[in-house]
Amino acid sequence: MAEETKFKCLRCMSEFRLPYRHGVTEERTCPNCSSNSVRRVKEDKK
Ligand SMILES: [Zn+2]
Repeated sequence: MAEETKFKCLRCMSEFRLPYRHGVTEERTCPNCSSNSVRRVKEDKK
């Protein structure tokens, strides 16, 4: 089951959403700068 998860690029610091599948580790690339230094961001509900 795929869900949308927030990702953040460590290079250009842009945030974007990508479908994420549990248990599947895929290499992500930033749609903004094509860097693969992309981290998954935990979304805080305030
Ligand atoms: Zn980037």
